[in-house]
Amino acid sequence: MDTYGRLTEEIIEELSSVLGPGGIITDDRDLLENYSWDQAGRIWGHMPEAVVRPGNTTQVSAVMKIASRYRIPVTPRGAGSGLNGGAVPLAGGIVLSLERMNAILEIDPVNRVAVVEPGVVTNDLCRAAAEKGFLYAGYPMSTETSYIGGNFATNAGGGKVVRYGSTRRHILGAEVVLASGEIIELGGRYRKDSWGYNILQLLIGSEGTLAIATKLTVNLEPKPGKTVNLLACYPGIEKLVESVSKVIGSGEKIISCEFMDRNLVRYTTEYLGCRLPEQDRSGGYLIIQVEGDSEEQLEESYEKIGNICLSCGAFEVFVAESRTDSAAMWNVRQNGLEGMRARDPYACGSGDLMVPLSAVPEMLRRIEAAGREWGLEMGIIAHIGDGNIHPIPIKPEGMTPEKWAIYSEEFFEALIKEAIKLGGVGSGEHGVGHVKQHIITQSKSPAELELLRGIKRTFDPLNILNPGKMFFPLGDR
Ligand SMILES: Cc1cc2nc3c(=O)[nH]c(=O)nc-3n(C[C@H](O)[C@H](O)[C@H](O)COP(=O)(O)OP(=O)(O)OC[C@H]3O[C@@H](n4cnc5c(N)ncnc54)[C@H](O)[C@@H]3O)c2cc1C
Repeated sequence: MDTYGRLTEEIIEELSSVLGPGGIITDDRDLLENYSWDQAGRIWGHMPEAVVRPGNTTQVSAVMKIASRYRIPVTPRGAGSGLNGGAVPLAGGIVLSLERMNAILEIDPVNRVAVVEPGVVTNDLCRAAAEKGFLYAGYPMSTETSYIGGNFATNAGGGKVVRYGSTRRHILGAEVVLASGEIIELGGRYRKDSWGYNILQLLIGSEGTLAIATKLTVNLEPKPGKTVNLLACYPGIEKLVESVSKVIGSGEKIISCEFMDRNLVRYTTEYLGCRLPEQDRSGGYLIIQVEGDSEEQLEESYEKIGNICLSCGAFEVFVAESRTDSAAMWNVRQNGLEGMRARDPYACGSGDLMVPLSAVPEMLRRIEAAGREWGLEMGIIAHIGDGNIHPIPIKPEGMTPEKWAIYSEEFFEALIKEAIKLGGVGSGEHGVGHVKQHIITQSKSPAELELLRGIKRTFDPLNILNPGKMFFPLGDR
């Protein structure tokens, strides 16, 4: 069993001397509380003893050297928008917030990369890239809050994965600080690498359990040509899912293919005070973003996609005529979780089933059947073109929040088992954190778990980096 040190006055003084004024929070309980939970909900939270807010890599390294010396657990934190308790300091100790390291250091048009600090908000990077005529293709639905460092650490997906892949595909290089405090550089401004093992790729999606990202070099795509958003309305889900593989396989340039069901649209439009077209008749919607090189070609493309949808049972396909129309449909999609939480603050957003595209219809059937069996009302939202489905159940009336935290996760555990039977996996993009830890460990073979533990021991022999997350146990206090 690991035994962690406690933060003494002397250690706090040492930390303060490297971090300077404003760099450390220890006494203000209200402030500390803000860093004790993430979007999994307060119920999964845990108080830190201190929050450190380094302003540069040297300070991150100095904090890790001190933490290693006294064996203090350190939980890296981005914006805290994670849905599985990844940024929660389960063992207390230090939360290391990257919020002050938020500079876009460079946009390099020749190499088509941006170099950024980890605390840059994803959407700020998208905007800065667009101003220079590029696209940063990361687009989680939390784009206006999440940080690029958090996207790196969770291998975030989102609304453009169909075309551009998840964060793994966008990261070319990183500067990271190891548990020992050592700083290493991985990758760079190049796009091919067969120079041995790829540690950079290993760190993407490692949820702060192996290293802390302090600088990232990201790929920029050429800005897409002309785009248009379609809103296809279907009477029910069965018909809708038939269209998806046909749309994706159409040969047209599809940037996004997203799904929202009736319940989710109802609660989200009520929350936002808006309406989508044909809301009374629609059992589900697809938002499809299509790209074309010219107006004419775009028109041909979206007509073809619209016809595919109509031939698969859509009763109406709307073409967004303006930016406002596009923004209205994407606003509902982006606010799906908030909409469900306006209906019930305990609506659970951690569900993140991932199945092969061919298994999406069956997975949706099983989700609906399970919802009935477990007596749950839910909304469903999906990056359906990727096969990534988020059921968002709400707490049954009268159930305590404590019981609900367990019940909802048992519900997801049952669904994850179904996803695995269908050839999928337990999470497409939200990761493991501590909420899903017991499930992932069940789904790995003993041999794979041993390899994973060996990797953790190599990077973090004292088990101080984000302990109790993913496959790794919590040390003893
Ligand atoms: C409304 C809503 C919509 C969402 N939509 C999507 C979506 O479409 N796609 C998707 O993938 N996710 C989505 N998420 C989940 C979440 O936004 C992502 O997982 C995001 O990448 C987390 O970023 P963050 O900065 O908030 O990280 P945090 O939540 O702060 O941290 C997440 C994990 O990363 C680690 N970490 C953070 N920064 C670093 C760093 N610099 N170095 C090392 N480790 C670090 C933390 O320790 C933690 O384990 C959504 C969440 C919400 C609330």
